Amino acid sequence: SSFYGFRVENKAFKEDEVLKVETKVASDLPLRNPIITVMGHVDHGKTTLLDYIRNAKVVSSEAGGITQHIGAYSVQVNGATITFLDTPGHAAFANMRQRGANLTDIVVLVVAADDGVMPQTKESIKFIQNAKVPVIVAINKMDKEGVNPDKIKQELMGYGLVAEEWGGDTQFIPVSALKGTGVDNLLEAIQLQAEMMELKASPKGPAQGVIIESKIEQGRGPVATILVQSGMLNQGDSLVVGETYGRARSLVDYTGKALKSAGPSTPVQVLGLDGIASPGDTIYVVKNDREAKKVVENRILERKKLESAGKKKLSLEDFFGASDKSEKKILPLIIRADVLGSYEAIKDALESLANNEVGVNVIGGGVGAITDSDVQQAESSKGFIIGFNMRPVTTARKLAEQYGVDIKTYSIIYEVINDVKLALEGLLAPEKTEVYVGRAQVRETFNIPKIGLIAGSVVIDGRIERGCNIRLLRDQKIVFDGKLSSLKRFKDDVKEVKNTFECGIALENFNDVRVDDIFEAYKMEETKRKLESVPGSAVL
Ligand code: GDP
Repeated sequence: SSFYGFRVENKAFKEDEVLKVETKVASDLPLRNPIITVMGHVDHGKTTLLDYIRNAKVVSSEAGGITQHIGAYSVQVNGATITFLDTPGHAAFANMRQRGANLTDIVVLVVAADDGVMPQTKESIKFIQNAKVPVIVAINKMDKEGVNPDKIKQELMGYGLVAEEWGGDTQFIPVSALKGTGVDNLLEAIQLQAEMMELKASPKGPAQGVIIESKIEQGRGPVATILVQSGMLNQGDSLVVGETYGRARSLVDYTGKALKSAGPSTPVQVLGLDGIASPGDTIYVVKNDREAKKVVENRILERKKLESAGKKKLSLEDFFGASDKSEKKILPLIIRADVLGSYEAIKDALESLANNEVGVNVIGGGVGAITDSDVQQAESSKGFIIGFNMRPVTTARKLAEQYGVDIKTYSIIYEVINDVKLALEGLLAPEKTEVYVGRAQVRETFNIPKIGLIAGSVVIDGRIERGCNIRLLRDQKIVFDGKLSSLKRFKDDVKEVKNTFECGIALENFNDVRVDDIFEAYKMEETKRKLESVPGSAVL
């Protein structure tokens, strides 16, 4: 625009103007396929179920018949398509919830018939109810002897999930993920549920999606699995996600087939981003690479602004405190998790527990069992090992015993975070606060051989205690700050002298005490400090 012949430029960069977010009214949009997440307690059969469905229903496009593990796959049920998120650690999922991108349409809650409701079952139910996502319960391991599905229905009723046949609105499907029995019923139940939901999205315009998985592959660079949520993702599109960007060089689906484009509810592996993106982050298509770069540069700038604004808020005390303890204490950790999503979610969450005194440094690990070299690394760096749904191999366990390396295994993310937080709090220097004890005023002074100067004083407020710190005040100025060397009443050493009583006070290494000087007694109390949770950090 021009203003009296001058060009008026809008200096403020508006991200929203670049990332044109689709906000069309839903009613005139075409239907899209449902996205399903499988949740439940560890060992209840999530992986077995997802593997069974993939093996039975997904036809590979490759000659060898090997389907791609890209973090999601789709299957056909009665002519409809349903897409499963194949990340049973569901940590990526927790991340997504945090970022408000609710991408799951239906949750399949797997409960082992021989085990019932366990901690992660409860955690899952909490999520399902908070997010108001419809749930279908798969009562798994029905092939086991003596199991009773009614017992599971009964138990889940206590958590607000009432079976349809008992007057509620939750479908309970008995299955055996191992044998495959009942799985078709489960798929039909999902398809029916999805049909009722009438999910819609526009397959037109620039795509928007969510990162499901992201990793560096040897020889290929960063690869990310994107679940398209709206619009059409095309090969060659310029992409922005978090602080990474790039061009979609190639799109590959879960059967290994190259695609030219991918519409809503399609999971697709994308090559061409310039780094790893975090699961749960929203990915946008922008006009060109230049625009993508601009968005990322702006995001980095904004983040740095926020960071330095955060720094300014530090008080002087914080500042001196920080410069005092200039050496930050770092807890070295090795994390092993069952899936990349969990590994990244835990790593992010733990790294965000840092403040300017203590922090976590994830020095190793990844996906898979805890190995000998993990233990060796932990031993040499004086760190410890966290296994999430992962145990050490036998030799590693023995080695850890031998070295005294701590291996802690978990299956619930917030327990990992809590434990590490406690460990970090142990590293925090205790907070020292001054506690006022009392004052005494000097009435006369005596020089006593071998002892030095004794000040005959009267306590005028509070009390004076042996072992206290003492400040000597003269005309409101501090002339000495140190320790008492003796506290006497008459000839006797005493522990304390109360208000209005007379006493003799001597200071350590200080003799210049004068009449009318004031002794101020104080103590330093140490309190263990808590690690403040950082706002916006990934504490799940
Ligand atoms: P996840 O931790 O929930 O992913 O559980 P997994 O799928 O890894 O299963 C844990 C264990 O239970 C494995 O040893 C499976 O073979 C076993 N399992 C899973 N489903 C069934 C089932 O339907 N019947 C029986 N008998 N075992 C099962």
